[in-house]
This record gives sequence, C-alpha cells and structure tokens, in this order.
Amino acid sequence: MTARILVVDDIAANVRLLEARLRAEYFEVRTATNGRSALDIAETERVDLVLLDVMMPDLSGYEVCAKLKANPSTANIPVVMVTSLDQPEDRVRGLEAGADEFLTKPVSETSLLARVKSLVRLKMVTDELELRAATMQSVGINPAEILTDPNEIAGNVLVVDDRENSTQRIRKALQHPLAVQVTADPADAVLVAERSDFDLFIISLSLKAGDGLRLCTQIKTIDRLRQTPVLLITDADETSQVTRALDLGVNDYVIRPIDENELRARVRTQLRRKRYQDRLRNMVSSAVELAITDPLTGLYNRRYLDAHLRSAAARAEATAKPVCVLIFDIDHFKDVNDTHGHDAGDDVLREFADRISRGVRGIDLVARYGGEEFLLVMPETDREFAAAVAERLRSDVEKVPFKTRSGVSSVTVSIGIAEWQGATDTAETLIKRADNALYAAKRAGRNRVVASAA
Ligand code: GH3
Ligand code: MG
Ligand code: MG
Repeated sequence: MTARILVVDDIAANVRLLEARLRAEYFEVRTATNGRSALDIAETERVDLVLLDVMMPDLSGYEVCAKLKANPSTANIPVVMVTSLDQPEDRVRGLEAGADEFLTKPVSETSLLARVKSLVRLKMVTDELELRAATMQSVGINPAEILTDPNEIAGNVLVVDDRENSTQRIRKALQHPLAVQVTADPADAVLVAERSDFDLFIISLSLKAGDGLRLCTQIKTIDRLRQTPVLLITDADETSQVTRALDLGVNDYVIRPIDENELRARVRTQLRRKRYQDRLRNMVSSAVELAITDPLTGLYNRRYLDAHLRSAAARAEATAKPVCVLIFDIDHFKDVNDTHGHDAGDDVLREFADRISRGVRGIDLVARYGGEEFLLVMPETDREFAAAVAERLRSDVEKVPFKTRSGVSSVTVSIGIAEWQGATDTAETLIKRADNALYAAKRAGRNRVVASAA
C-alpha cells in the first residue's frame, strides 16, 4: 500500500519518531512543524492522510483540521489527530472538527499502523469514485451538490453484544434519528443483516455465543454487506485482535468502558463516510445514464455532446487530423405531428435516430441536439468525406418511408456540415458554421446537404 502521509507536529522529535515508523512500512512521508505549512502542503501536493498534533502554537490541530475539512480541495483527506491529552472531550472535539481518527501519545505501533492503513484504504476507494465523479462534472453535473449533506446522521444500526451495560450505553448514545437493533447471537446477526438494510454494525469482540472476529470476517465476505462499516467494541487488553480485525476490513473500534460522546462521534463519522460512498456509487451507475442520454431516442444528449465535442476538437488540434460536425434537421416535422399525431412524431424521431446511428462508424458520435435536430461528430474526417456520408444518410431517410403507430410517413432531412479549422475554432463556432450551412440547405429548398465553405 503506497500512500503519502503528512506528519504535523511542532516538536521535531515527535515528527521523526512517526516518520521512522511509517517509512519502515514503506509509506511516503512529508513533514511540517506548524499548521500553516501543513495547510500549504495539503493544498498544493498530493496527500493521502494527515497525522496532526493537537497542541501547536499559532494554529492548533483543531483549527488546522477544521480548515482542511472546510476546503473542498482537501476535505476528503483523512485526518488523524495525535493528542497527548487522554481526555474523551478532546477526542470528541477533534472528531467534531472533522477528524476521522485520533491517536493518543505515546502512540502505540499497533494503533498507528492499524488506523493509518484502514484510513488509507478508505481514501483509495474514495479517490477512485471521485475520479469518476470528475467525469460527471465535465458533463455539467456538480457532484458536490449530490454529496454534501452534513446534517444527515440518520441510519439503521445493528448491535451485536451480550453485555447488558454496554448495550444500554450504546442505546443511550445512539438515539433518534438513529434506529438501533440489538442481538446477542452472531448467527442471528448474519440472518438479520442479510434480510434488512443496515448502515452500520457495532460488534463486540468477545461474545459468549461465538467469535466476534469471525462475525466481522463473515460480514466482509457477503457482497451485500461488504460496504457496510463495522465498528468493534473491545476491552483494553485485546490489542492484537484489534489489529487483525482492522486488517480484515473492520473500520474502527471503541474501547470499553464506552464513552457515549466518543461512540456517537465515531458512529457519525462512519455513517458520513458510508453516505458519501453510497452517493458517489449511485451517481456513477444510474445518474450517468440519466444525465447523458436522451430518454426518447437513447442517443447521447446535448450536455454529453458539448463535453465530447470539446475533447474531439482538442484531439484534432493535437493530432492535426480533421474533424467534422454535421447537423441534421428533419424537414417540416411539424407537419408529421399535425398529420399523424405527436406519438407518431416520436416514432419517427426514434426511427430516425436508429437509421443515423446504424449508418455511421463506431468512432462517430450521434447526439440528439434538440427537438428534431441531431448532431453527428466525425473524427478523422474531412469535409468531402463528411459530405459523401451525409448524402448517403439523407437519401436513406428519403428512400424508405417511416413506419409509425398511425401509418407510414415520408420524411426528408436537411444537413449542414462544418469542418474544424484549427486553434482559432471552438466547439461553439464549429456548431455555428454547421448551423449556418443547415440554414442554407433549408433556404435552398430542404432535403439536401450543404457544407460550410470554411
Ligand atoms: P423545418 O423544415 O424548417 O425544419 O420545419 P419544422 O417543422 O421541422 O421545424 P420547426 O422548428 O418549425 O418545428 C419543429 C417541430 O418539432 C415542432 C415541435 O412540436 C416538434 N418536436 C420537437 N420535439 C419533439 C418531440 O420530442 N416529439 C415530437 N413528436 N415532436 C417534437
Ligand atoms: Mg428545427
Ligand atoms: Mg425541422
């Protein structure tokens, strides 16, 4: 696991100690001795995780953390607060500032590596998803709008624990809008978990009815449950098992006696992360489809086309190969609607989209540009070749009447063509020239192809 970790502490000896331990595990380490330079590095360099001292002159660790989390470009870097104050309130304050974890000095090797590894793993998944989200942004959707919802801490929690005093504390810590369900039996837990939708599992490591660690493994091997965070409840002397649990993919742990504030803050952190990842995932799978395709014809829509055309133009510029844009506008389409009805008009649009799509190469892109206007982008194609293709498509449309639910309809199309002119051209000017050529085709009597002179 190669990751870049920023270690921030005003005391050089502390920095060196953490640095040595992390380097021994082949992490890349960057260091800073005050809050300002830490913020600077996080903003300008790639950082996968920040280990942040709380007590620093000038900017405290809390302030640095809050600033990191408030800046969109650094908000997703996990932050581990390193504190010498072994007070639950300080932990909670750190988590409230947006910290993902905390470690108490002197930092034990187990907890350092376990928590660093677990957070780095999470960061990698998040990075991957964000990369895809960037694609969404390039087609005009702002993922931030879909992502940020800091108030959302509702969720269903399954607690697997058989000790009355800790389940009581958990119930008290996790009240509305959280819904808590408790079971003492790990076998029962798997059954219940598979049947319902939980956002978090809280599992006691030492259960009378079975092995808590084994239950964690089981959960992490069931596809439907794998992404659900697991929080372990342990006793202070179970360190080596905690390390194993974190290696198995358990997300975090709390040591008995359970501090209610700490538990609440940790649960909230896990739920936030889960929401964040769920949202990215959903966005990637379903919204991509919705956002970039036209529901009537299944073609790409205008939003996608604009992004595509920009990159096609950039490629043409870089490779010195031509690219052409063709705009199709069905002639007197209003008459089709008037004669056969709007639904029949839709049938024509679908059939038209199919004919054009079937008649072009795989590298060409067809999009629905507007009502009865379509746009075709042809890379590595000059004006003459584009005109020949356009003429074939035009005659394909004219030759065979279109079948609709209200009878057949004769259809013709006018086509305007423009070729990319080099660096002075833009996607907008290119489309504009194709549109002018289309207009000329309409004026000249429709059912024809006109290529722009330039
Ligand atoms: P021209 O030859 O000048 O292009 O004439 P036209 O009638 O095709 O052009 P105009 O722009 O006047 O009319 C376009 C028509 O396309 C009007 C609108 O109702 C229809 N239209 C736009 N979108 C849809 C759609 O999704 N379904 C159907 N059935 N009709 C649509
Ligand atoms: Mg029109
Ligand atoms: Mg028309």
